[in-house]
Amino acid sequence: MAPKLERFVSPGKGNGLRATGRILKGELVFSAEPLANCVSKKVSRDVCHHCFTRCETLLRCSQCKMARYCNITCQKQAWSVHKTECKCLRSLLPRIPTDSVRLAARLIFALVNVWSHSLFQLFSYSKHKSGILVKMSKLNIFPLSLIFAHSFSLFSIFLLFLHPIFISPSGPVCPSFLSSYCFLFYSLSLLNHDCRPNCVMVFEGTKLQLRAVREINPEEELTISYIETLSLTEDRQRQLEEQYHFTCHCQRCGCKDTDGLMVSGEEVSWRPMMESLSRLDELKAESNWQVLLESCKHLLSAASSVVPDENLYKLRVTDAALDACIHLGYWEEALGLGLRTLPVYRQYYPDPHPVHGVQLMRVGKLQHYLEHISEAADTFKQAYQIIKVTHGDTHSLTKDLLMKMEECRAEIDQQSFHNN
Ligand SMILES: [Zn+2]
Ligand SMILES: [Zn+2]
Ligand SMILES: [Zn+2]
Repeated sequence: MAPKLERFVSPGKGNGLRATGRILKGELVFSAEPLANCVSKKVSRDVCHHCFTRCETLLRCSQCKMARYCNITCQKQAWSVHKTECKCLRSLLPRIPTDSVRLAARLIFALVNVWSHSLFQLFSYSKHKSGILVKMSKLNIFPLSLIFAHSFSLFSIFLLFLHPIFISPSGPVCPSFLSSYCFLFYSLSLLNHDCRPNCVMVFEGTKLQLRAVREINPEEELTISYIETLSLTEDRQRQLEEQYHFTCHCQRCGCKDTDGLMVSGEEVSWRPMMESLSRLDELKAESNWQVLLESCKHLLSAASSVVPDENLYKLRVTDAALDACIHLGYWEEALGLGLRTLPVYRQYYPDPHPVHGVQLMRVGKLQHYLEHISEAADTFKQAYQIIKVTHGDTHSLTKDLLMKMEECRAEIDQQSFHNN
């Protein structure tokens, strides 16, 4: 574990992690490789099973016909992890086990490597119920809880279902692409939740990085948010209770700071948007962009000026319309929608947050593509102020952003050269 954090007993929360010294904003606090990970079945045909890159053409493992890789190098590097799994998958063909079963299997194989001597103990099942066992069985990953019934004292587990946002370097903006990967970490299970956390977790490849988004004082607890922070107190609390089985008593939940703003406007005017969100999500999942855009436009024009842009449901609908426009190549319209969301994002993300940084990058890419160069340069600069804190300067996303900024600078120079 990195020297700047230590385990401690957090009042009312059990174990936690706290800073042992001052941690600067943007500092990398901790970095970890997952104990096990697997690509979700949903995207298993589109993503390299080793480096998680999304590729048009992937090589398929000739034996299990399940694993896919971008090239021979990835396939070779993955083999030490994949070989045992490959044998199991082959024996089950044509059936493919569920994500949680595949993840559990990968976890066992990883552990067998680490503790081959305690294999017997690992596989024996006892009815001992610890908090985590209960928690995990509620998460429907029972195979894991069986395996761990005996080894909870050894370590606890942190399970993360990741929904990353991909930004492709090709094209002006590649629409956000939601997918699911499953990762397992230990040691990070000690991080407690806060609805306004002082750290964020970001992936670089399969490696997880924990970074401070504010300056953290010695002995201050390190926190992350387990859920999307942009939602009403009542909804956050419900989600935390259902998924993580605790009641959040953080400062933000206490003062309900942004709740009023999130539901601003007449309820009769924003309720239809709130009630349509799940339908819009379905259309998005079906890539039914034309219908999605029409539905969003209809909702937005009905709400028009009666509902302010700060309204959370209006923001969600605007974002869905933005996604649809990007997929359909309606760049001008996409830019208009994107620009409307920016002041709202700024308001709701007081600390640097990846979602806010990525939104700025999307808008910047649209401006750049539409040749609004100086506006693009300005938007990218704002994005960089956030991304350098949440992702650090060496992250591939930051490098992509810096390249865009460089392109803008060169184009502005060229323009002023021609004007003189
Ligand atoms: Zn790969
Ligand atoms: Zn295979
Ligand atoms: Zn809270």
